[in-house]
Amino acid sequence: MDHSTSDAINMSHGDMIDSHCHLDADAFIHDCEQVLERSKSRGVSTLHVPGTTADKWTELVKLSQHPMIDISLGLHPYFLTDTTCAERDLVQLDVALKQHAHQVVAVGECGLDGMISIPMTLQHRVFQAQITLAQQHQKPLIVHARKTHHLIMQDLKSTQYHGRGIIHAFSGPVDVAKPYLDRDWLLGIGGTITYPRGRKTQETIKCVGLEHLVLETDAPDMPLRGYQGQRNTPERLGQVAQAVAQLLDVSVARVIQQTTQNYQQLVSST
Ligand SMILES: [Zn+2]
Repeated sequence: MDHSTSDAINMSHGDMIDSHCHLDADAFIHDCEQVLERSKSRGVSTLHVPGTTADKWTELVKLSQHPMIDISLGLHPYFLTDTTCAERDLVQLDVALKQHAHQVVAVGECGLDGMISIPMTLQHRVFQAQITLAQQHQKPLIVHARKTHHLIMQDLKSTQYHGRGIIHAFSGPVDVAKPYLDRDWLLGIGGTITYPRGRKTQETIKCVGLEHLVLETDAPDMPLRGYQGQRNTPERLGQVAQAVAQLLDVSVARVIQQTTQNYQQLVSST
């Protein structure tokens, strides 16, 4: 069977889930509806749009009315400014999670980024508070981690978080993945694995297997190999599925079936 043509995906498996896509980004402001239509025609049934800043949450809740869209609410570490704003936003997040409990599938995107100039003390404070909110509201976490996996683990332990989550845009060797898998978390797999430099991540995927993976594009960021410099789009999710299928030597249909099930179990288990 030929798993390599994107037609195979179009025709037979309209059930892929892009577990991480910033459809609310300015890059999609003019053609959001068309992107959704084209994604659907290429086999994407659901897009999960994570939160980034408090001023976007109202728009996200509105977006969640679309039958293809799931949302999360959260504070992305990139956009933190100061403690006063952060504390105000965290209070607002608690209110919003209560108010929109049925629309919101998770808390995030939150986490720690070791490559930006936002003070780590502020990042920790806001991340820990969001972990606590996820626990209180019984939602999984969508976590952003860059050079901070050990710190993420520390915060999960210190807050005594026992819930599940997705480690978004996972890349790295299997020993980095292990503590997440021990907690029954899922690894978000995106365009990184289409590059030769993604070898370590490719090896990790082979070790951990399909049961711990979800597919994502992180659109409009993280373009796939061959599309560098272009806006990334959920329409290309099938190519991530194909890359995973090739790595694991299974059919694209199998990848889609299992990753979709993994995502659905995560968002319905809380
Ligand atoms: Zn993101």
